[in-house]
Amino acid sequence: MSIAEKEIKKFEHGNCAENNVFYQAMEEVIYSIAPLLESDERYSRFGILDRLVVPDRIIKFKVTWLDDNNQIQVNTGYRVQFNNALGPYKGGLRFHPSVNEGILKFLGFEQILKNSLTGLPIGGAKGGSDFDPKGKSDFEVMKFCTAFMTELHKYIGPRIDVPAGDIGVGAREIGYLFGEYKKITSSYEGALTGKPYFLGGSLMRPEATGYGVVYFTQSMLEIENKEPLEGKICTVSGAGNVALHVIEKLQEIGAVVVTCSDSHGTVYDPRGIDLALVKELKLNRSNSLEMYVQTHTEAKYTPVSEYPEGEHAVWNIPCYAAFPCATQNELFEADARNLIENGCVSVSEGANMPSTPNAIALLQSHKVCFAPAKAANAGGVAVSEFEMSQNASMSKWSYEKVNYKLEETMQMICKRVALTAKDYGVEGNYVDGANIAGFKKVADAMIAEGI
Ligand code: GLU
Repeated sequence: MSIAEKEIKKFEHGNCAENNVFYQAMEEVIYSIAPLLESDERYSRFGILDRLVVPDRIIKFKVTWLDDNNQIQVNTGYRVQFNNALGPYKGGLRFHPSVNEGILKFLGFEQILKNSLTGLPIGGAKGGSDFDPKGKSDFEVMKFCTAFMTELHKYIGPRIDVPAGDIGVGAREIGYLFGEYKKITSSYEGALTGKPYFLGGSLMRPEATGYGVVYFTQSMLEIENKEPLEGKICTVSGAGNVALHVIEKLQEIGAVVVTCSDSHGTVYDPRGIDLALVKELKLNRSNSLEMYVQTHTEAKYTPVSEYPEGEHAVWNIPCYAAFPCATQNELFEADARNLIENGCVSVSEGANMPSTPNAIALLQSHKVCFAPAKAANAGGVAVSEFEMSQNASMSKWSYEKVNYKLEETMQMICKRVALTAKDYGVEGNYVDGANIAGFKKVADAMIAEGI
């Protein structure tokens, strides 16, 4: 039995359905880092894996709030403080009905390695709630955020744990959370990132994840001697913050983005997505993407109910580069096959773990350049750290400075991932490169600090 198989065996016990995504993320990392474990016995001697896969603590709390009809609503809130070997716990908050401990453990675990890859002093965490912001009034969202922070404030702080946004949590929610944190603690400090600009937020934080994905992809295509994105057909899934800014940057550099999607369906516009219209539709939270085809009759809308069995309607559209930016496990093996058959050259993950393990294996076996989320979408958390720096020094950086540093960070991550893969005999495998490089830095810090 190989070291990786032995390690995986250890964690099989106690696995439950809720933990499946966490197990999926962990298994990928263990297989990737096997050569490192074989070559350096310190990692086993110091029990690094046993320690790394268990969060430092999981905080779970009740959130009680009053809806607009004065009815009492009860949700569950969480903060998974996973690892702070490299710096304060750092990671987003997700508000979505699917949120449970297993999903947050998977996201928190990924966040440790992602944050490590940025080279910045930030540890890994994730949190959120099963609260569904969809269909809620602005006041209801505000009341929920206030109630959520009543409990969360005890566990966070600029040097302790710095939450940010994720699915369902944008500048509006962070603004309300920050307002309540400030009120409770009487302290105006950077305990959250992704704040609105006038509350101490950084310029470009909303754009950072999406733009970063494109910068990473440009760098990867250059390293792999592939043609650049300019003038190429690209497909994007999702229509949230990450997807919209991937589309924006791709259009800015002259690529043609022909798709976007939400939980109800997919828009395919062969003439190129009208981003202003999608933004307008999404801004009004009750609008569906289906309305896109009322303005653009040449476009096609496919509702989820009409997707081919086991496939996503975005991934059977021919493209040069694909950008899954919706949510975890949205690109399956059949989708990977469609992409390969249609000549796709690169897949870059904007969402966290959107591709299934079988899909990744198939893409890699056909030499499709594959950029895993923990490397490709690290631009968001990198600019969050820039926000922490600005808050700590009571300063404001210009748009040009943030953009320059973001681009530089993404290029640095890409080069480091590619070089690590080469060093460990898996050239071109960005999944293994990212896992090894991210793990090594955290593991070395854990060894240095003792147990
Ligand atoms: N939720 C984002 C991520 O998945 C950003 C986290 C942050 O800015 O702290 O990386």
